[in-house]
Amino acid sequence: MALDKDAVRRKYAEERAKRLRPDGNDQYLRPTGRLAHYLDDPHTPRAEREPKTDHVTVAFVGGGFAGLLTGARLKEAGIHDVRIVEKGGDFGGTWYWNRYPGAQCDTASFVYMPLLEETGHMPSEKYAHGPEILEHCQRIGKQYGLYDNALFHTEVQSLEWDDGRSRWIVRTDRGDAFTAQFVAMGIGPLHVPKLPGIPGIETFGGHSFHTSRWDYAYTGGDPSGAPLDRLGDKRVGIIGTGATAVQCVPHLARVCEKLYVFQRTPSSVDVRDNRPTDPEWFALIATPGWQRRWLENFTANQAGGAATEDLVMDGWTDIASRVRERIGALAPEERTLVRMLAAFEDSDFEKMEEIRARVDAVVEDPETARRLKAWYRQLCKRPCFHDEYLQAYNLPAAHLVDTDGKGVERITETGVVVAGVEYEVDCLIYASGFEVGTDYTRRAGYDLTGRDGVTLSADWAEGMRTLHGIHTRGFPNAFFVQPFQGANLISNIPHNLTEAGRTIAVIVKHALAQGYREVEVSEQAQRAWMDLLLTNRGGLLGSQECTPGYYNNEGQDAGLRAWVNVGYPEGAMAYFAYIDGWRSSGDFDGLEFRR
Ligand code: NDP
Repeated sequence: MALDKDAVRRKYAEERAKRLRPDGNDQYLRPTGRLAHYLDDPHTPRAEREPKTDHVTVAFVGGGFAGLLTGARLKEAGIHDVRIVEKGGDFGGTWYWNRYPGAQCDTASFVYMPLLEETGHMPSEKYAHGPEILEHCQRIGKQYGLYDNALFHTEVQSLEWDDGRSRWIVRTDRGDAFTAQFVAMGIGPLHVPKLPGIPGIETFGGHSFHTSRWDYAYTGGDPSGAPLDRLGDKRVGIIGTGATAVQCVPHLARVCEKLYVFQRTPSSVDVRDNRPTDPEWFALIATPGWQRRWLENFTANQAGGAATEDLVMDGWTDIASRVRERIGALAPEERTLVRMLAAFEDSDFEKMEEIRARVDAVVEDPETARRLKAWYRQLCKRPCFHDEYLQAYNLPAAHLVDTDGKGVERITETGVVVAGVEYEVDCLIYASGFEVGTDYTRRAGYDLTGRDGVTLSADWAEGMRTLHGIHTRGFPNAFFVQPFQGANLISNIPHNLTEAGRTIAVIVKHALAQGYREVEVSEQAQRAWMDLLLTNRGGLLGSQECTPGYYNNEGQDAGLRAWVNVGYPEGAMAYFAYIDGWRSSGDFDGLEFRR
């Protein structure tokens, strides 16, 4: 039967309207004050140490992939004096904190895990699990000597430019006040856990934690998948059904006496099809230069390029290849913007119908199946891939409590209230995500004071302004490592970081070799880059037509501040080619070097 596209469009609009709320991002709570314990580190005890007051060549804020990759490239470039400052107790960033059961990468390991070729590591599965990725972070740290100078359990409080001495003063919550000629920052897009601002949240008397601080002491089990053996007599509630919940709900459903999954908006859950890596196959592909070829192939397939084959073949490249096929089927004279957008939408309808049909095929209870169906375009929210999540709802312990877009009504001392019904629970788990869309310096937890006392928070009050997503005028010798205003490749964040790390290492090496004390983007180059970015009209990602979520600032138009978080107008592949050319030319066009 032909799909009634108008009816589906109407349904999407109705579901979106149910979820729009005036408070947008303000609906969430930051775990401070009485909620601050939600941020405690359950993984590593904090060790006391003396404050640092020395000088380093490069200080890097953040010990996740960004810091590890940039640190590795700096070391390769002969810069040994690199200090990573990290708020966690070890390297790993998101993989340090997120040790919930079932945590696993969603993009194929061969392109997601950085520096595989350099470290000689073969991912054990197509989609590696969290402990292996965390171990890989430690492997990188060890191989490149990044542990030597690192400061863990340390939060930067301020970065202040000392113009007289051409260096940054780094102050931390450990009383450190050391200096660095260069600072680089890779704070991660999703690192501040947020809690839903549900009335009564502070009154809950049972046990509770955020998924990024999983409490194995309470649940039993471990991050490697050992059963959560202390939950057999527990009633557990989990709030949220995003990518995190999709991965941990199956583990909970197997063991809890009762599991209530409180849902506001269902995720789209496509096939995962994970499998162990065949070492013989890996030996065949892992020839010199393999990971770079794979990265480029993934990006060409996923984000616009001229790939002839799909090496990676994962959920992300499948989404893109379907769209490409539809557009490719149009005759050359039909390839107008309107027709291409219609082809994109048709491909989306097809995919989402498949995903909805999968729910019916898997979930035995028809009412539960109905409520697990996602009614929005796939890229409106983070696509999920799993082969046990929907299946979990067939287990006797699992109960979906759908709030029909309204969210949980109230939390009491003993449970969770939805539509006037209280669900009593012993333990409440917040799979409620991370702060997004707020100011960079708020999320970072510190401000930068650049030349002439100008702060980054003031400078970026109307949104970030950079060259290449890396440099910002007024903040010499400071580099940002993140996807926006560069490739903006959301399907594989590490590829963005890989390239930024390379770029920064080349710049620092050049500055040091030539005896430059300072490097800063020129006013004119930054303006030209911003003008170029603003020719990018954006896409579905972040669209106000989508159901609310962190992709679109919870459905509130944030104006230019959000609009500038775009990527290179010609796409990720074109950006990577451009920046490669920029780096290898040796001209450093747009940068001013000073002695
Ligand atoms: P999300 O922000 O995606 O999900 C938060 C969930 O909490 C949503 O389902 C949200 O509903 C729900 N929620 C918020 N407030 C309420 C409320 N008042 N009542 C009921 N429910 C509520 O967080 P995640 O931690 O799941 O994921 C964050 C991101 O981290 C992902 O999008 C992904 O980018 C990344 N991630 C990546 C993984 C990987 O690559 N393997 C795994 C896990 C996460 P609603 O949708 O209606 O807002």
